[in-house]
Amino acid sequence: MKILSVNAGSSSLKFQMYEMPAEEVLISGVFERIGMEGSLYTIKLNGEKIEKKVELKDHKRAFELLVEELINNKIVDSLDDIAGIGHRIVQGGSYFDKSVVASEEVIEKINELSTLAPLHNPAAITGIRAAQAVVPNALQTVVFDTAFHQTIPEENYLYALPYEWASKYQIRRYGAHGTSHKYISQKMNEILDREDTKLITCHIGNGASISAVLNGKCINTSMGLTPNAGLIMGTRCGDIDATIIPYMMQQLNLSPKEIDTVMNKESGLLGISGVSSDSRDIEAGIKEGNKRCLLAEKMFVRRIVDYIAKYYVELGGCDAIVFTAGIGENSISVRKDVMEALEVLGVKLDDEKNNIRGKVQKISTSDSAIKVYVIPTDEELMIARDTFELMK
Ligand code: AMP
Repeated sequence: MKILSVNAGSSSLKFQMYEMPAEEVLISGVFERIGMEGSLYTIKLNGEKIEKKVELKDHKRAFELLVEELINNKIVDSLDDIAGIGHRIVQGGSYFDKSVVASEEVIEKINELSTLAPLHNPAAITGIRAAQAVVPNALQTVVFDTAFHQTIPEENYLYALPYEWASKYQIRRYGAHGTSHKYISQKMNEILDREDTKLITCHIGNGASISAVLNGKCINTSMGLTPNAGLIMGTRCGDIDATIIPYMMQQLNLSPKEIDTVMNKESGLLGISGVSSDSRDIEAGIKEGNKRCLLAEKMFVRRIVDYIAKYYVELGGCDAIVFTAGIGENSISVRKDVMEALEVLGVKLDDEKNNIRGKVQKISTSDSAIKVYVIPTDEELMIARDTFELMK
């Protein structure tokens, strides 16, 4: 059975097609600059990458071209071979604790939640509508970034603000990267061959979050109402004293939108280093003796360590820490710095084993009190799996 995993942004559409249940990737790619000048798409097939410059008026046009490519490359014989299409949704609010079929009622709720994810939810709906128009017989499903975090208890998801704000204005912690945290925690449990585990899952990419997962269920996560909470990220500040916001709005005469842009786009690694949001540039800067790059890295690592320590206490110990995403999978130095700061908990790094990028690997020594693993994440596969389950 052929299932398509889709991630629609406001001007992009990423896709990956799977043969299920074999979980074999048949083709993948991305449409970029949709509705803009210079639009193009890239396809990865049989280890080859093909790029085509085409006019992409809207997401529907992208879907039409995608289907043409699937047929021309003999991935499918006809439209009817596409059994299901799973769409990634950033914000599912308190409504969704699992993936569901994209009924009109569900789409309406996703639309209602656009106030909490103004860039992402409307774009995802555009993707669903385009898929429905071009592939009407496929089962459309939605997979939420927030669903895995719906098991977080009230005392962890509420903010200490007026109690009614949660019900009246939906002000609470929702978290993000849930599909990734779920994937790596399931994979970790498979490796440990147990379900009754205490895990700390670290999704450290340009966006970054850490979750505490007890017996397969999330009990806390570092992102909040929005992704700009918790860790220091590429361009996001993460946790700050909230009063800085009205104070600096007054000092610089900034509008809410302007201060939001500073906190989301001009802070984090970029804001501190003044060089880049990309951890590779920060590492290069450190090698050249750039003091602000070193400071940015120290602050970045400190915050990761703080959250691991907090969740270690909350879980009452920890069986395994898992690193994933761009930095977690690839940055040997960030993993090393984090693990060395955790020595007090009995964490012991195996330097040689840590010298890897992008593959499943245990990077702690055999006598480490906590096992530490690198597990590459696979959100697209999770979307395909959930869609396949909903077909049954
Ligand atoms: P993501 O958001 O998961 O795509 O991750 C993006 C981040 O991963 C960026 O900060 C990249 O610098 C980082 N990254 C990717 N490859 C490497 C690498 N080889 N070494 C260090 N960081 C990397």
